[in-house]
Amino acid sequence: MRPYILSESNWDYIKDTKFDMAILPWGATEAHNYHLPYASDNIQAEAAASESARKAWAKGAKVIVLPTVPFGVNTGQSDIYLDININPSTQSLILNDIIEVLNRQGIYKLMIFNGHGGNDFKPLIRELGLKYPKMFICSTNWFQALERSDYFENSGDHAEEMETSVLLHLLPCLVLPKNKWGDGKTKKFSVDALNEGWLWAERKWSSISKDTGVGNPELATAEKGKKFFDDITDKIGDAIYEISKVDMDDLYEKS
Ligand SMILES: [Zn+2]
Repeated sequence: MRPYILSESNWDYIKDTKFDMAILPWGATEAHNYHLPYASDNIQAEAAASESARKAWAKGAKVIVLPTVPFGVNTGQSDIYLDININPSTQSLILNDIIEVLNRQGIYKLMIFNGHGGNDFKPLIRELGLKYPKMFICSTNWFQALERSDYFENSGDHAEEMETSVLLHLLPCLVLPKNKWGDGKTKKFSVDALNEGWLWAERKWSSISKDTGVGNPELATAEKGKKFFDDITDKIGDAIYEISKVDMDDLYEKS
């Protein structure tokens, strides 16, 4: 039993332990090119949250990783078979109920450990922060904590070189052989402004990608995945330690 993982813990241990901070991994259930499992975002978020928490715990952080929420916002993939969408309003209700428990039981720090690009927690955190003023709620898209171009040659954001490398490192038995990998080729918008980033519209996944991937995975290796995973969990582990220890009256620099 890892003492910072709630799903492995028992009442004998939990009843006598106090935690300063909870971590909530949140993923999605969706197709990941031809070759990666539907739970890719859940597997990666849970593994990265657990490893980051392990590193923070070793330094003395009293932190507990909650079970991963396996469904995310997949509104743009409505016609992709068995992509399981939950709407942002549902996500907000689930998050509210989890925060209500933490707030009532005196765990006032929460980090949402997001593993899926379609999940957007900022507006939810703003609203729930008003409702639960004692709570400090932060979120990270964990995979963006480091500059990915320092580790990977090809860009992308779905089942691409980075995700394929991390899965090859974590659970190679769930990655299909390389001859099954699609090239993750994607169509841009025909309106330039939408490609420049300042004007946003949701992408209809089935119109932009044939294999559901976004970004070419062909140069992915387990070694690249391990290096990225080790470095990024070092960095996030440090942040978890700091957040778990910081006095909320001391959150801003002194003038
Ligand atoms: Zn993914």
